Amino acid sequence: KKQGRNLAHVYDKNDTHSKALQASLEWARKLHQAVADDNLELYFQPVVEIASRQTVYHEALVRLKIENRVVSPGEFIPALEREGDMNLLDRQVVSKAIKYLHDYPSLNKIAINLSAQGFGDERLVPLIKEKLRQHRVDGRRIIFELTESASLSNITATRQIVSKIRELGCEFSIDDFGTGFSTFNYLKQLPAQSVKIDGSFIVDLTTNAVDLALVKAIYEVATALDKKTVAEFVENEQTLILLKKIGVTYAQGYHLGKPLPVEKLFAQSAVC
Ligand code: C2E
Ligand code: MG
Ligand code: MG
Ligand code: MG
Repeated sequence: KKQGRNLAHVYDKNDTHSKALQASLEWARKLHQAVADDNLELYFQPVVEIASRQTVYHEALVRLKIENRVVSPGEFIPALEREGDMNLLDRQVVSKAIKYLHDYPSLNKIAINLSAQGFGDERLVPLIKEKLRQHRVDGRRIIFELTESASLSNITATRQIVSKIRELGCEFSIDDFGTGFSTFNYLKQLPAQSVKIDGSFIVDLTTNAVDLALVKAIYEVATALDKKTVAEFVENEQTLILLKKIGVTYAQGYHLGKPLPVEKLFAQSAVC
């Protein structure tokens, strides 16, 4: 106080800043510990074939269990990416997901998300091979979802990894399509079997003419390239009807089913 207002203000600011920094470091440490301890759980959300309304596969969505809380990816992925721990998370998810394919035959087929870090990890391909063998699971039961990302800067390496994983029978899908910064290049270069149209183009589809034009265009391009289309964030029946009219093959969203732990997913069939 004696030294004047401004100075006091600076000290105060530094103090708040260091507290925030400490909290963020502490959170990063907890996340890292949870991943290292394998304190993660996979939730599964159905992907439905629009024409038949049948569930054709489920997407695995990771959750971290920290101090009796179930923490969603939005809260921890940015921190893990910063710390370079996404490859560790992805390896845990791959191991767990393939074990689930063995333990739960009702999970016909699943989609597994891979980050750029996880995809670029040289341990990934040997791990997939080893887990498929260990649990006697057919690789054709897996679709890997990749987002448009910097990993494409080395397209030759990317294609090599993709073809090694394709040899195991697994498929690829381009996730969150339309939001990346070199969308069409990605579509051209990546040998994927399907394109997942980003949810931001779907949520207002029935009322927004721009979104409708973009979704139709994505559908046309994907179909011309012999790729199936998936719409995420389908939140109501009108959207589903419109997607069917456009010709989109698959849909996913709260209207069709929320992400659930595997036990709840098959709770009914387990009772039978
Ligand atoms: P994503 O792969 O695009 O997954 C879809 C996200 O949208 C999920 O959020 C899902 O719960 C949510 N969602 C599903 N239906 C609807 C809907 O109708 N409306 C709205 N508003 N949202 C819906 P979640 O589980 O929080 O995951 C967020 C993102 O985190 C995922 O986006 C994916 O990019 C990433 N992620 C999740 N699990 C993994 C993982 O195991 N590994 C990696 N590398 N990334 C993961
Ligand atoms: Mg995904
Ligand atoms: Mg997506
Ligand atoms: Mg998304």
